[in-house]
Amino acid sequence: MATDYNKYEAVIGLEVHIQLLTESKAFSSDTNAFGERPNTNVSPVSLGHPGTLPRINTKQIEYAVRLGLAVGADINKYNEFARKNYFYPDLPKGYQITQDTTPICTNGAITINIDGQEKQIHLTRIHMEEDSGKSIHDQDPFNTLVDLNRAGVPLLEIVSEPEIRSGDEAQQYLQEVRRLIRYLDISDGNMEEGSMRCDANISVRLRGTEAFGTRAEVKNMNSFSHVKQAINYEIKRQIDLIEQGGTVVQETRGFNPLDSSTFSMRSKEAANDYRYFPEPDLPPHIIEETYIDSINAKMPPLPNALKRKYIEELGLSEYDSSLLVDNKAIALYFEEMITYTKNYKSAANWLMGPVKSYLNQQAISISDFPVSAKHIATLIALIDSEKITNTMATQQVFPAMLKTPEKSPQKLAEELNLIVENDVDTLKAMINEVLNNYPEKVQAYKNGQKGLMGLFMGEVMKLSKGKANPKETTKLLNQLLNQ
Ligand code: ADP
Ligand code: MG
Repeated sequence: MATDYNKYEAVIGLEVHIQLLTESKAFSSDTNAFGERPNTNVSPVSLGHPGTLPRINTKQIEYAVRLGLAVGADINKYNEFARKNYFYPDLPKGYQITQDTTPICTNGAITINIDGQEKQIHLTRIHMEEDSGKSIHDQDPFNTLVDLNRAGVPLLEIVSEPEIRSGDEAQQYLQEVRRLIRYLDISDGNMEEGSMRCDANISVRLRGTEAFGTRAEVKNMNSFSHVKQAINYEIKRQIDLIEQGGTVVQETRGFNPLDSSTFSMRSKEAANDYRYFPEPDLPPHIIEETYIDSINAKMPPLPNALKRKYIEELGLSEYDSSLLVDNKAIALYFEEMITYTKNYKSAANWLMGPVKSYLNQQAISISDFPVSAKHIATLIALIDSEKITNTMATQQVFPAMLKTPEKSPQKLAEELNLIVENDVDTLKAMINEVLNNYPEKVQAYKNGQKGLMGLFMGEVMKLSKGKANPKETTKLLNQLLNQ
Protein backbone atom coordinates (compact mmCIF):
# COMPACT_ATOMS: atom_id res chain seq x y z
CA MET A 1 0.00 0.00 0.00
CA ALA A 2 1.26 3.48 -0.82
CA THR A 3 2.53 5.53 2.12
CA ASP A 4 0.30 8.38 3.24
CA TYR A 5 2.97 11.02 3.91
CA ASN A 6 0.30 13.46 4.91
CA LYS A 7 -0.36 11.48 8.09
CA TYR A 8 2.91 12.91 9.37
CA GLU A 9 4.10 16.37 10.24
CA ALA A 10 7.69 17.57 10.13
CA VAL A 11 9.25 19.34 13.10
CA ILE A 12 12.30 21.43 12.24
CA GLY A 13 14.61 23.70 14.24
CA LEU A 14 17.48 25.59 12.61
CA GLU A 15 20.84 26.65 14.00
CA VAL A 16 22.27 29.46 11.87
CA HIS A 17 25.80 30.78 12.19
CA ILE A 18 26.56 34.22 10.84
CA GLN A 19 30.03 35.74 10.50
CA LEU A 20 30.13 39.31 11.69
CA LEU A 21 31.52 42.20 9.64
CA THR A 22 33.94 43.41 12.29
CA GLU A 23 37.41 44.69 11.44
CA SER A 24 39.18 42.42 13.89
CA LYS A 25 38.54 38.97 15.28
CA ALA A 26 36.40 38.19 18.31
CA PHE A 27 39.14 38.00 20.93
CA SER A 28 42.28 39.34 19.23
CA SER A 29 43.35 42.24 16.99
CA ASP A 30 43.91 39.90 14.01
CA THR A 31 42.25 41.16 10.84
CA ASN A 32 38.85 39.66 10.02
CA ALA A 33 38.82 39.42 6.22
CA PHE A 34 37.68 36.84 3.70
CA GLY A 35 39.82 35.53 0.85
CA GLU A 36 43.31 36.57 1.98
CA ARG A 37 46.42 34.39 1.63
CA PRO A 38 46.01 31.40 3.98
CA ASN A 39 47.42 31.68 7.49
CA THR A 40 48.37 35.35 7.26
CA ASN A 41 45.89 36.75 9.81
CA VAL A 42 46.94 34.53 12.69
CA SER A 43 48.63 35.85 15.82
CA PRO A 44 49.66 33.95 18.98
CA VAL A 45 46.37 35.07 20.57
CA SER A 46 44.35 33.31 17.87
CA LEU A 47 46.54 30.27 18.41
CA GLY A 48 46.02 30.41 22.18
CA HIS A 49 49.74 30.30 22.94
CA PRO A 50 50.66 30.25 26.64
CA GLY A 51 50.82 33.75 28.11
CA THR A 52 48.39 35.27 25.61
CA LEU A 53 45.04 36.63 26.71
CA PRO A 54 41.80 37.02 24.76
CA ARG A 55 39.95 40.34 24.84
CA ILE A 56 36.29 41.02 24.15
CA ASN A 57 35.51 42.77 20.84
CA THR A 58 32.85 45.34 21.73
CA LYS A 59 31.63 45.33 18.10
CA GLN A 60 30.54 41.72 18.56
CA ILE A 61 28.50 42.76 21.58
CA GLU A 62 27.02 45.71 19.66
CA TYR A 63 26.05 43.57 16.66
CA ALA A 64 24.47 40.92 18.88
CA VAL A 65 22.40 43.56 20.66
CA ARG A 66 21.39 45.11 17.33
CA LEU A 67 20.15 41.75 16.06
CA GLY A 68 18.46 40.99 19.38
CA LEU A 69 16.55 44.27 19.30
CA ALA A 70 15.57 43.74 15.66
CA VAL A 71 13.96 40.36 16.44
CA GLY A 72 12.35 41.54 19.69
CA ALA A 73 14.56 39.37 21.90
CA ASP A 74 15.37 39.87 25.58
CA ILE A 75 18.92 41.14 25.97
CA ASN A 76 20.64 39.48 28.86
CA LYS A 77 22.64 41.80 31.06
CA TYR A 78 25.05 39.26 32.46
CA ASN A 79 27.19 37.65 29.79
CA GLU A 80 29.66 34.94 30.54
CA PHE A 81 31.84 33.25 27.98
CA ALA A 82 32.51 29.51 28.11
CA ARG A 83 35.03 27.10 26.69
CA LYS A 84 33.74 24.34 24.44
CA ASN A 85 36.48 21.73 24.32
CA TYR A 86 37.11 19.37 21.42
CA PHE A 87 39.97 18.25 19.24
CA TYR A 88 40.04 19.07 15.56
CA PRO A 89 43.00 20.00 13.35
CA ASP A 90 41.47 23.35 12.42
CA LEU A 91 40.86 24.31 16.06
CA PRO A 92 44.28 25.59 17.15
CA LYS A 93 43.46 26.23 20.82
CA GLY A 94 41.71 22.89 21.35
CA TYR A 95 38.63 24.79 22.45
CA GLN A 96 36.24 27.36 21.10
CA ILE A 97 35.15 30.38 23.12
CA THR A 98 31.36 30.51 23.10
CA GLN A 99 28.44 31.21 25.43
CA ASP A 100 26.79 28.32 27.23
CA THR A 101 24.40 29.19 30.05
CA THR A 102 24.16 32.96 29.48
CA PRO A 103 23.37 33.61 25.80
CA ILE A 104 23.25 37.34 25.02
CA CYS A 105 19.70 37.07 23.61
CA THR A 106 16.74 34.87 24.42
CA ASN A 107 13.25 34.78 22.87
CA GLY A 108 12.22 37.02 19.98
CA ALA A 109 11.02 35.80 16.59
CA ILE A 110 11.53 35.87 12.85
CA THR A 111 8.37 36.49 10.81
CA ILE A 112 7.93 34.54 7.60
CA ASN A 113 5.18 34.73 5.02
CA ILE A 114 3.58 31.49 3.88
CA ASP A 115 0.96 31.86 1.12
CA GLY A 116 0.13 35.38 2.26
CA GLN A 117 -0.13 34.28 5.89
CA GLU A 118 2.35 35.63 8.44
CA LYS A 119 3.91 33.05 10.73
CA GLN A 120 6.26 33.68 13.61
CA ILE A 121 9.20 31.36 14.14
CA HIS A 122 10.30 31.93 17.71
CA LEU A 123 13.94 32.00 18.70
CA THR A 124 15.37 30.04 21.56
CA ARG A 125 18.58 32.02 21.81
CA ILE A 126 21.28 33.99 20.05
CA HIS A 127 24.78 33.62 21.42
CA MET A 128 28.25 34.94 20.63
CA GLU A 129 31.13 32.67 19.73
CA GLU A 130 34.24 32.42 17.58
CA ASP A 131 34.74 30.47 14.36
CA SER A 132 37.17 27.61 13.89
CA GLY A 133 39.76 27.52 11.12
CA LYS A 134 39.02 25.89 7.80
CA SER A 135 40.04 22.41 6.65
CA ILE A 136 40.57 22.23 2.91
CA HIS A 137 40.12 18.77 1.45
CA ASP A 138 40.13 19.45 -2.27
CA GLN A 139 43.40 21.24 -3.07
CA ASP A 140 46.07 18.67 -2.26
CA PRO A 141 45.51 15.09 -3.48
CA PHE A 142 47.12 13.52 -0.40
CA ASN A 143 46.69 15.90 2.51
CA THR A 144 44.09 18.00 4.20
CA LEU A 145 45.24 21.62 4.34
CA VAL A 146 44.37 23.98 7.17
CA ASP A 147 43.79 27.74 6.88
CA LEU A 148 43.56 29.48 10.24
CA ASN A 149 42.60 32.92 8.94
CA ARG A 150 39.00 32.13 9.94
CA ALA A 151 39.95 30.91 13.43
CA GLY A 152 38.61 33.43 15.93
CA VAL A 153 36.31 35.28 13.53
CA PRO A 154 33.27 36.50 15.51
CA LEU A 155 30.00 34.62 14.98
CA LEU A 156 26.47 34.83 16.20
CA GLU A 157 24.57 31.57 16.45
CA ILE A 158 20.81 31.94 16.05
CA VAL A 159 18.84 28.95 17.37
CA SER A 160 15.17 28.61 16.46
CA GLU A 161 12.43 26.82 18.31
CA PRO A 162 11.29 23.65 16.50
CA GLU A 163 8.40 25.53 14.85
CA ILE A 164 9.36 25.17 11.20
CA ARG A 165 7.19 22.65 9.33
CA SER A 166 8.63 22.28 5.83
CA GLY A 167 11.60 22.86 3.57
CA ASP A 168 9.84 25.89 2.12
CA GLU A 169 9.33 27.43 5.54
CA ALA A 170 12.98 26.80 6.36
CA GLN A 171 14.07 28.52 3.17
CA GLN A 172 11.83 31.52 3.92
CA TYR A 173 13.21 31.71 7.42
CA LEU A 174 16.77 31.76 6.12
CA GLN A 175 15.95 34.39 3.52
CA GLU A 176 14.40 36.53 6.23
CA VAL A 177 17.43 36.10 8.50
CA ARG A 178 19.76 37.04 5.68
CA ARG A 179 17.75 40.10 4.74
CA LEU A 180 17.67 41.21 8.36
CA ILE A 181 21.42 40.87 8.98
CA ARG A 182 22.09 42.76 5.74
CA TYR A 183 19.74 45.58 6.75
CA LEU A 184 21.49 45.67 10.12
CA ASP A 185 24.94 45.78 8.44
CA ILE A 186 26.24 43.13 10.80
CA SER A 187 27.02 40.40 8.25
CA ASP A 188 27.12 40.12 4.48
CA GLY A 189 25.04 36.91 4.77
CA ASN A 190 26.94 35.43 1.87
CA MET A 191 26.23 31.68 2.02
CA GLU A 192 28.64 30.74 -0.78
CA GLU A 193 31.55 32.33 1.07
CA GLY A 194 30.44 30.61 4.26
CA SER A 195 29.54 33.78 6.14
CA MET A 196 26.11 32.27 6.80
CA ARG A 197 25.85 28.52 7.52
CA CYS A 198 23.00 26.37 8.66
CA ASP A 199 22.45 23.13 10.62
CA ALA A 200 18.96 21.67 10.35
CA ASN A 201 17.37 19.52 13.07
CA ILE A 202 14.59 17.41 11.61
CA SER A 203 12.09 14.96 13.07
CA VAL A 204 8.62 13.76 12.14
CA ARG A 205 5.54 12.92 14.21
CA LEU A 206 2.01 11.77 13.49
CA ARG A 207 -0.19 14.79 12.81
CA GLY A 208 -2.20 15.70 15.89
CA THR A 209 0.31 14.25 18.37
CA GLU A 210 2.31 16.46 20.73
CA ALA A 211 5.48 14.53 21.49
CA PHE A 212 8.48 15.16 19.27
CA GLY A 213 10.01 12.33 17.31
CA THR A 214 13.74 11.59 17.40
CA ARG A 215 15.68 14.13 15.35
CA ALA A 216 18.53 13.95 12.91
CA GLU A 217 20.81 16.97 12.59
CA VAL A 218 22.11 17.78 9.11
CA LYS A 219 25.29 19.82 9.48
CA ASN A 220 26.89 22.78 7.79
CA MET A 221 24.93 23.56 4.68
CA ASN A 222 25.84 26.67 2.73
CA SER A 223 22.96 27.27 0.35
CA PHE A 224 19.24 27.81 0.78
CA SER A 225 18.38 25.13 -1.72
CA HIS A 226 20.63 22.58 0.01
CA VAL A 227 18.82 23.18 3.28
CA LYS A 228 15.47 22.72 1.59
CA GLN A 229 16.56 19.60 -0.26
CA ALA A 230 18.11 18.08 2.87
CA ILE A 231 14.92 18.69 4.84
CA ASN A 232 12.69 17.20 2.15
CA TYR A 233 14.97 14.17 1.89
CA GLU A 234 15.05 13.68 5.67
CA ILE A 235 11.27 13.95 6.04
CA LYS A 236 10.74 11.22 3.45
CA ARG A 237 13.56 9.03 4.80
CA GLN A 238 12.24 9.19 8.36
CA ILE A 239 8.62 8.51 7.39
CA ASP A 240 9.65 5.57 5.18
CA LEU A 241 11.75 4.19 8.01
CA ILE A 242 8.89 4.43 10.51
CA GLU A 243 6.36 2.99 8.06
CA GLN A 244 8.64 0.00 7.52
CA GLY A 245 8.68 -0.64 11.28
CA GLY A 246 12.09 0.90 11.95
CA THR A 247 13.06 3.69 14.35
CA VAL A 248 14.83 6.96 13.68
CA VAL A 249 18.10 7.22 15.60
CA GLN A 250 19.49 10.50 16.86
CA GLU A 251 22.51 11.27 14.75
CA THR A 252 24.49 13.86 12.87
CA ARG A 253 24.17 13.66 9.10
CA GLY A 254 25.82 15.31 6.13
CA PHE A 255 24.27 16.51 2.87
CA ASN A 256 25.37 15.21 -0.51
CA PRO A 257 24.55 17.84 -3.13
CA LEU A 258 25.25 15.39 -5.99
CA ASP A 259 22.03 13.46 -5.38
CA SER A 260 20.34 15.73 -2.79
CA SER A 261 20.53 13.01 -0.14
CA THR A 262 21.76 12.96 3.45
CA PHE A 263 24.12 10.39 4.94
CA SER A 264 25.00 9.33 8.47
CA MET A 265 28.18 10.87 9.93
CA ARG A 266 28.07 9.97 13.62
CA SER A 267 25.49 8.68 16.06
CA LYS A 268 24.49 10.21 19.37
CA GLU A 269 26.54 7.59 21.27
CA ALA A 270 29.68 8.87 19.57
CA ALA A 271 28.71 12.49 20.26
CA ASN A 272 31.25 14.79 21.82
CA ASP A 273 31.24 15.75 25.43
CA TYR A 274 32.41 19.33 25.19
CA ARG A 275 33.06 19.78 28.90
CA TYR A 276 31.88 23.38 28.92
CA PHE A 277 33.27 25.56 31.68
CA PRO A 278 33.42 29.35 32.18
CA GLU A 279 36.26 30.92 30.21
CA PRO A 280 38.79 31.80 32.92
CA ASP A 281 40.60 34.42 30.82
CA LEU A 282 37.55 36.63 30.18
CA PRO A 283 35.58 38.48 32.86
CA PRO A 284 31.79 38.37 32.60
CA HIS A 285 30.56 41.23 30.44
CA ILE A 286 27.79 43.36 31.93
CA ILE A 287 25.43 45.14 29.54
CA GLU A 288 23.86 48.33 30.91
CA GLU A 289 20.33 49.50 30.09
CA THR A 290 21.77 52.81 28.80
CA TYR A 291 23.97 50.89 26.38
CA ILE A 292 20.94 49.06 24.97
CA ASP A 293 19.14 52.41 24.63
CA SER A 294 22.05 53.87 22.70
CA ILE A 295 22.02 50.95 20.24
CA ASN A 296 18.26 51.24 19.92
CA ALA A 297 18.59 54.92 19.03
CA LYS A 298 20.88 54.05 16.12
CA MET A 299 18.79 51.23 14.60
CA PRO A 300 18.53 51.39 10.80
CA PRO A 301 15.09 51.03 9.16
CA LEU A 302 14.04 47.38 9.07
CA PRO A 303 12.35 45.60 6.16
CA ASN A 304 9.11 44.67 7.92
CA ALA A 305 8.58 48.17 9.31
CA LEU A 306 9.26 49.70 5.87
CA LYS A 307 6.88 47.25 4.24
CA ARG A 308 4.13 48.10 6.69
CA LYS A 309 4.70 51.80 6.03
CA TYR A 310 4.49 51.31 2.26
CA ILE A 311 1.23 49.40 2.52
CA GLU A 312 -0.48 51.39 5.26
CA GLU A 313 0.80 54.92 4.72
CA LEU A 314 1.72 55.05 1.04
CA GLY A 315 -1.11 52.82 -0.17
CA LEU A 316 1.14 50.51 -2.19
CA SER A 317 0.21 46.89 -2.80
CA GLU A 318 1.61 44.06 -0.73
CA TYR A 319 3.42 42.83 -3.86
CA ASP A 320 5.08 46.19 -4.68
CA SER A 321 6.03 46.71 -1.05
CA SER A 322 7.66 43.28 -0.78
CA LEU A 323 9.70 43.92 -3.91
CA LEU A 324 10.83 47.33 -2.66
CA VAL A 325 12.07 46.10 0.72
CA ASP A 326 13.68 42.93 -0.58
CA ASN A 327 16.98 44.73 -1.04
CA LYS A 328 18.10 47.35 1.46
CA ALA A 329 19.86 49.63 -1.04
CA ILE A 330 16.76 49.63 -3.29
CA ALA A 331 14.55 50.44 -0.29
CA LEU A 332 16.84 53.32 0.71
CA TYR A 333 16.79 54.69 -2.84
CA PHE A 334 12.99 54.54 -2.74
CA GLU A 335 13.02 56.29 0.63
CA GLU A 336 14.99 59.10 -0.99
CA MET A 337 12.66 59.25 -4.00
CA ILE A 338 9.62 59.77 -1.81
CA THR A 339 11.18 62.78 -0.16
CA TYR A 340 10.87 64.43 -3.61
CA THR A 341 7.58 63.01 -4.94
CA LYS A 342 4.19 62.15 -3.52
CA ASN A 343 3.35 59.94 -6.49
CA TYR A 344 4.42 56.80 -4.62
CA LYS A 345 2.96 54.32 -7.07
CA SER A 346 4.78 55.94 -9.96
CA ALA A 347 8.01 56.08 -7.94
CA ALA A 348 7.71 52.36 -7.22
CA ASN A 349 6.94 51.61 -10.88
CA TRP A 350 9.95 53.57 -12.13
CA LEU A 351 12.26 51.95 -9.63
CA MET A 352 11.05 48.37 -10.13
CA GLY A 353 10.63 48.86 -13.89
CA PRO A 354 13.09 50.91 -15.99
CA VAL A 355 15.66 51.43 -13.21
CA LYS A 356 15.77 47.78 -12.18
CA SER A 357 16.00 46.55 -15.79
CA TYR A 358 18.91 48.91 -16.39
CA LEU A 359 20.66 47.55 -13.28
CA ASN A 360 20.07 43.96 -14.43
CA GLN A 361 21.23 44.72 -17.94
CA GLN A 362 24.44 46.35 -16.70
CA ALA A 363 24.82 43.83 -13.87
CA ILE A 364 25.34 46.62 -11.37
CA SER A 365 23.72 47.38 -8.05
CA ILE A 366 21.68 50.47 -7.21
CA SER A 367 24.65 52.00 -5.40
CA ASP A 368 26.33 52.30 -8.82
CA PHE A 369 23.23 53.67 -10.53
CA PRO A 370 24.24 57.03 -12.06
CA VAL A 371 20.92 58.88 -11.83
CA SER A 372 19.90 60.49 -8.55
CA ALA A 373 16.60 59.73 -6.81
CA LYS A 374 15.83 63.43 -7.11
CA HIS A 375 16.09 63.42 -10.90
CA ILE A 376 13.81 60.39 -11.25
CA ALA A 377 11.31 62.19 -9.05
CA THR A 378 11.57 65.26 -11.31
CA LEU A 379 10.93 63.05 -14.33
CA ILE A 380 7.76 61.78 -12.64
CA ALA A 381 6.69 65.38 -11.99
CA LEU A 382 7.20 66.24 -15.68
CA ILE A 383 4.93 63.36 -16.67
CA ASP A 384 2.32 64.18 -14.03
CA SER A 385 2.15 67.82 -15.11
CA GLU A 386 1.78 66.63 -18.73
CA LYS A 387 4.97 68.39 -19.82
CA ILE A 388 6.18 65.15 -21.37
CA THR A 389 4.33 61.95 -22.18
CA ASN A 390 5.05 58.66 -20.48
CA THR A 391 6.27 57.23 -23.78
CA MET A 392 8.76 60.05 -24.30
CA ALA A 393 9.91 59.71 -20.72
CA THR A 394 10.72 56.01 -21.01
CA GLN A 395 11.95 55.98 -24.59
CA GLN A 396 13.93 59.22 -24.77
CA VAL A 397 14.37 61.23 -21.58
CA PHE A 398 15.31 58.31 -19.32
CA PRO A 399 17.99 56.98 -21.73
CA ALA A 400 19.36 60.54 -22.02
CA MET A 401 19.48 60.81 -18.23
CA LEU A 402 21.54 57.61 -18.10
CA LYS A 403 24.05 59.18 -20.50
CA THR A 404 24.26 62.58 -18.81
CA PRO A 405 23.03 62.00 -15.27
CA GLU A 406 24.12 65.42 -14.06
CA LYS A 407 21.62 67.21 -16.33
CA SER A 408 18.08 67.74 -15.08
CA PRO A 409 15.32 65.86 -16.92
CA GLN A 410 13.58 69.16 -17.66
CA LYS A 411 16.69 70.43 -19.46
CA LEU A 412 17.13 67.15 -21.34
CA ALA A 413 13.48 67.16 -22.44
CA GLU A 414 13.90 70.71 -23.74
CA GLU A 415 17.14 69.87 -25.55
CA LEU A 416 15.46 66.86 -27.15
CA ASN A 417 12.56 69.11 -28.07
CA LEU A 418 10.10 66.86 -26.28
CA ILE A 419 8.09 69.30 -24.21
CA VAL A 420 4.46 68.51 -24.84
CA GLU A 421 2.39 70.98 -26.87
CA ASN A 422 -0.38 72.15 -24.55
CA ASP A 423 -1.22 75.40 -26.29
CA VAL A 424 -4.84 75.19 -27.45
CA ASP A 425 -4.42 77.44 -30.48
CA THR A 426 -1.37 75.58 -31.73
CA LEU A 427 -3.18 72.27 -31.23
CA LYS A 428 -6.28 73.53 -33.01
CA ALA A 429 -4.17 74.70 -35.97
CA MET A 430 -2.61 71.25 -36.30
CA ILE A 431 -5.97 69.50 -35.98
CA ASN A 432 -7.50 71.71 -38.66
CA GLU A 433 -4.58 70.96 -40.97
CA VAL A 434 -5.18 67.22 -40.52
CA LEU A 435 -8.94 67.49 -41.00
CA ASN A 436 -8.42 69.55 -44.17
CA ASN A 437 -6.17 66.80 -45.54
CA TYR A 438 -8.94 64.17 -45.09
CA PRO A 439 -12.27 65.69 -46.15
CA GLU A 440 -13.86 62.31 -47.12
CA LYS A 441 -12.77 60.73 -43.84
CA VAL A 442 -14.25 63.62 -41.94
CA GLN A 443 -17.52 63.09 -43.79
CA ALA A 444 -17.39 59.35 -43.06
CA TYR A 445 -16.81 60.10 -39.40
CA LYS A 446 -19.77 62.40 -39.32
CA ASN A 447 -21.81 59.63 -40.95
CA GLY A 448 -21.06 57.35 -38.06
CA GLN A 449 -17.63 55.77 -38.61
CA LYS A 450 -16.44 56.74 -35.13
CA GLY A 451 -13.45 54.39 -35.44
CA LEU A 452 -11.78 57.01 -37.65
CA MET A 453 -10.91 58.99 -34.51
CA GLY A 454 -7.78 56.83 -34.23
CA LEU A 455 -6.62 57.91 -37.68
CA PHE A 456 -7.08 61.65 -36.90
CA MET A 457 -5.34 61.26 -33.59
CA GLY A 458 -2.41 59.42 -35.20
CA GLU A 459 -2.05 62.11 -37.87
CA VAL A 460 -2.01 64.93 -35.31
CA MET A 461 0.64 63.04 -33.35
CA LYS A 462 2.73 62.59 -36.48
CA LEU A 463 2.40 66.26 -37.35
CA SER A 464 3.41 67.31 -33.82
CA LYS A 465 6.29 64.78 -33.73
CA GLY A 466 4.59 63.06 -30.79
CA LYS A 467 4.40 66.24 -28.77
CA ALA A 468 0.67 66.97 -28.85
CA ASN A 469 -0.92 66.54 -25.45
CA PRO A 470 -3.05 63.42 -26.10
CA LYS A 471 -5.83 64.27 -23.64
CA GLU A 472 -6.19 67.82 -24.91
CA THR A 473 -5.99 66.69 -28.54
CA THR A 474 -8.80 64.15 -28.06
CA LYS A 475 -10.96 66.81 -26.47
CA LEU A 476 -10.33 69.35 -29.24
CA LEU A 477 -10.79 66.75 -32.00
CA ASN A 478 -14.18 65.86 -30.58
CA GLN A 479 -15.15 69.52 -30.42
CA LEU A 480 -14.02 70.35 -33.97
CA LEU A 481 -15.57 67.23 -35.52
CA ASN A 482 -18.89 67.61 -33.81
CA GLN A 483 -19.46 71.31 -34.37
P1 ADP B 1 21.97 20.63 20.37
O1 ADP B 1 22.76 21.74 20.97
O2 ADP B 1 22.32 19.29 20.89
O3 ADP B 1 21.98 20.64 18.89
P2 ADP B 1 19.50 22.01 21.08
O4 ADP B 1 18.57 21.68 22.17
O5 ADP B 1 20.30 23.24 21.24
O6 ADP B 1 20.45 20.79 20.82
O7 ADP B 1 18.64 22.09 19.77
C1 ADP B 1 19.13 22.48 18.58
C2 ADP B 1 17.99 22.70 17.60
O8 ADP B 1 17.23 21.53 17.46
C3 ADP B 1 17.02 23.78 17.98
O9 ADP B 1 16.78 24.57 16.83
C4 ADP B 1 15.76 23.02 18.37
O10 ADP B 1 14.61 23.75 18.06
C5 ADP B 1 15.85 21.81 17.49
N1 ADP B 1 15.18 20.61 18.02
C6 ADP B 1 15.20 20.13 19.26
N2 ADP B 1 14.47 19.00 19.33
C7 ADP B 1 14.00 18.74 18.09
C8 ADP B 1 13.20 17.70 17.51
N3 ADP B 1 12.76 16.65 18.21
N4 ADP B 1 12.94 17.77 16.20
C9 ADP B 1 13.39 18.80 15.46
N5 ADP B 1 14.13 19.79 15.94
C10 ADP B 1 14.44 19.77 17.24
MG1 MG C 1 23.04 21.41 17.41
